[in-house]
Amino acid sequence: MSGLLAGKIAIITGAASGIGRAAVSIFTSEGARVVAGDRAAGVHEVGKPGEVVPVIADVSRREGAAAVVRAAEESFGGVDVLFNNAGIERLANVVDTTEELWHEILDVNLKSVFLCCQAAIPAMLRRGGGAIVNNASINGIRGNTKLAAYQASKGGVVALTYSVAIDYASQGIRCNAVCPGTIQTPMVGTRPPDVLQAMIAKHPIGRIGQPEDVAWLACFLASDRASFLTGLAVPVAGGRDIR
Ligand code: NAD
Repeated sequence: MSGLLAGKIAIITGAASGIGRAAVSIFTSEGARVVAGDRAAGVHEVGKPGEVVPVIADVSRREGAAAVVRAAEESFGGVDVLFNNAGIERLANVVDTTEELWHEILDVNLKSVFLCCQAAIPAMLRRGGGAIVNNASINGIRGNTKLAAYQASKGGVVALTYSVAIDYASQGIRCNAVCPGTIQTPMVGTRPPDVLQAMIAKHPIGRIGQPEDVAWLACFLASDRASFLTGLAVPVAGGRDIR
């Protein structure tokens, strides 16, 4: 088996849709075997048996995080790569954000990263190391409108990435974040032409991203080719971050 992730065992959360689904396809094409975790039943339609084990799991809960790690150990014998990708977006400024909405967004976008890292790191250490890639957002490192809880959650993901990178570098675990600009996924959906044009205009490269743009970066960061990279928050945003 050849490829960037040849022989690796990977967990991808939020694998039923968008960036996670593209990552399942790219990681397996690069030689990984994958546990595809999602709370949506659509995860059963992702990937081929033998290469991909689907797990219905809400990774904002401890049991869900434990379930994806257990599936990787029982099905494939361990964990080398964790792509923390599950996430939700809801529009609201800070005044309009209810406490309930705050908890919902922080639980799915940030607490899930904490729980999955906590569950997966001991398994990685048993195999001598590993690589974690967290899906943050350009909104974790830049400002935007009406995304108060989402921005807080993604800024938290970037900070947690630095923490894990520092704490585990000497034990062979790297941890990096990807920071996508606007990516054409069900999260963004179909927008009226004027709204789509406004989204495109934010990206100097002249288009919004495709799920594969992010999944390939995650694949590279997860691979041994990135063995000297840790603690990065890498924009994949068509130049939006340098405006
Ligand atoms: P998506 O809605 O297409 O996919 C997200 C997936 O996560 C869904 O399958 C959903 O069921 C799953 N999910 C949600 N909550 C979950 C939970 N608690 N447990 C398990 N699975 C859960 O969205 P996407 O655009 O592919 O987003 C993937 C990641 O990329 C998210 O973290 C998102 O914040 C981030 N991101 C997306 C964009 C964008 O423009 N699409 C930009 C920046 C960052």
